[in-house]
Amino acid sequence: MMKRRPMVAGNWKMNKTLSEASELIQAMLPKLKMIEGVDIVLCPPFTNLNFARVETENSNVKIGAQNMHWQEKGAFTGEISASMLAELCDYVILGHSERRQMFGEKDETVNKKAQTALAHGLKPIICVGESLEQNQAGATASVVETQCRESLKGFSPKQAENIVIAYEPVWAIGTGLAATPEDANRVHSDVIRPVLRDLFGEDIADNMRILYGGSVNAENAGELFAMSDIDGGLIGGASLKADAFVAIVQAAAETL
Ligand code: PEP
Repeated sequence: MMKRRPMVAGNWKMNKTLSEASELIQAMLPKLKMIEGVDIVLCPPFTNLNFARVETENSNVKIGAQNMHWQEKGAFTGEISASMLAELCDYVILGHSERRQMFGEKDETVNKKAQTALAHGLKPIICVGESLEQNQAGATASVVETQCRESLKGFSPKQAENIVIAYEPVWAIGTGLAATPEDANRVHSDVIRPVLRDLFGEDIADNMRILYGGSVNAENAGELFAMSDIDGGLIGGASLKADAFVAIVQAAAETL
């Protein structure tokens, strides 16, 4: 089959004040606007979402949030709901390993959040990935398969069309140590894609994007994105630098 339309999403994590966000968006937007054929998503902190939305209006750049709560509204101090996000952005990252490790996120909560997100027209970017210990114990396939199955429980094929998966080995995030293109692709093609086929059927699964994340940079993006089942990237550190992020999006465009 033809390669899927690539996606590159920048996860800013807890970085950038409003004025810093303004500087970064101004530095990258004119260059991003010239790149065709890639779904480009910026995921700034909640405080910058409205600003980023206004700045990128009528452009090829979409906005995403980094987390949300699964409840519609109510006594959940400090939380943000899907309906609040739906007015501001198109995507939401769910189950990032930092949320799993530091904030008790579980497959079960990722699943509930993804259900609520979709009900409000938000497209979830669901993160999965094994820890270093799990990797060294040879448990990558079983860990990633379980995370996918549990996070995606109960979704219809129609819903799945709006879900993006990001494979992010925990040991590769922020370490400068990316998975090799072959290793990452093997997890995408031999673990994640078969689960998607099993859950949603071949046609839907073959059209779903599976992003790779973990120390993607301007130098290694091209060879990662060239792989058969790597449909783009979720980018942390390098999404905070205009030139690096633009180069990564450009690398995705060149796989077309
Ligand atoms: C991430 O935060 O999702 C990520 C992949 O980070 P980095 O690119 O910095 O490894």
